[in-house]
Amino acid sequence: MSKGLSRMAGAIKESPTLKLNALAASLIGKGEPVIHLGGGEPKAQFPPEALEKCTSYLAKREVSYAPPSGIPPLKKAIIRYTEKTYKKAVGNENVVVSVGGKQAIMAVLHAIVDPGEEVLFPAPYWVSFPEMVTLAGGVPVIVRPQTDPFRPTMKEVEDQVTPATKGIIINSPNNPSGAMYSRDFIAGIVAFCEARDLYLLMDDTYNRLVFDGQSAPNPFDFAKKPLEQSKLVVINSVSKSYAMTGFRIGWAVGSPELIKAVSNIQSQQTSCASVPGMWAAVGALEGDQSGVEALRRTLEGNRNVMLDCLKDFPGLKVAKPDATFYCFPDFRAYEKDSAKLADFLLEKARVLVVPGREFGMDGYLRLSYCGATGDVTEGVARIRWALDPRAPKEITIGGRKVVRDWA
Ligand code: PLP
Repeated sequence: MSKGLSRMAGAIKESPTLKLNALAASLIGKGEPVIHLGGGEPKAQFPPEALEKCTSYLAKREVSYAPPSGIPPLKKAIIRYTEKTYKKAVGNENVVVSVGGKQAIMAVLHAIVDPGEEVLFPAPYWVSFPEMVTLAGGVPVIVRPQTDPFRPTMKEVEDQVTPATKGIIINSPNNPSGAMYSRDFIAGIVAFCEARDLYLLMDDTYNRLVFDGQSAPNPFDFAKKPLEQSKLVVINSVSKSYAMTGFRIGWAVGSPELIKAVSNIQSQQTSCASVPGMWAAVGALEGDQSGVEALRRTLEGNRNVMLDCLKDFPGLKVAKPDATFYCFPDFRAYEKDSAKLADFLLEKARVLVVPGREFGMDGYLRLSYCGATGDVTEGVARIRWALDPRAPKEITIGGRKVVRDWA
């Protein structure tokens, strides 16, 4: 019998995006002129109301445990948010607060997956989905879109469903592609899951950061079953829309049966989310919402700048992101191995990007535009200098002139 770490520990790898964040921080800390286009969090200030609620809670200097499904004022705020954003009336029994959207997804998977059961999701997918399904004892099954690389068809999803399928995860707007799936697709997947009695996890983390006057399709619009009998669960978080990643507050809305199971699991895993964080989330959800719109507009502007910088980059295939703060160009004309390419760009150009391989699509790179606009322009200019033989041979990086001597 092995006395070492568990087989599960051996099967799970570190989050590549968090690892890259740490690498960027350490290089920048050493004074390296690194441009971080690998980030997953908006560089904005979180809402003042979040600060107020959090600090007035802390001012009492009593910080205690809370109910595992969340403090009542936050559940109330989430109920109102769900009414406003999704036009869906829900009650306390439909809401559970978690340590970020990440834990909400993880706890839902723990609540629904038995060993060996399959959970489907389309590529490109958020880096954590395969590992989370594995952690829950399930088998991740990837749907690989053939016609539009970033958007599956219903047939492509249906073809992967087997008697072992327990659920489907849909992340739209999508990290890493920035693509938003069509209303028809969302309507189709909701109907399909209802007809086949499958759980449907809608990861709506980016549903308010949508561009060009579009809005994210609302899955509740297409649900025929009442929430009591439904297997639809919608995940949200304050992390991205309110620039509150470090507070670690997210939530799930679903049937009372599922929400109770998730809450029981959390009661053993974490007891509850951080109470100061929950108070901050109350402030964010109930306060002035203009900050969300300001952030959305800034990101749309950055998206446009990035598209402009990439538009005559020879050989690149770039799809216009509908939402989020990511762009996911196809770099295969330069290098098919995205990890090798990302290493090369960090070494030569001091630009940090995330290899598409981590999202299930090698040959692509995820470029974030969540930071300063200047980082977008300079980051892309450096990438171009490193890869495009037609770009000027000389560039200045961190005040030093460097010459390309490889292409
Ligand atoms: N879902 C997606 C697609 C994400 O990109 C993220 C964060 O990067 C999350 C969920 C989880 O966010 P959080 O746990 O910070 O709420």
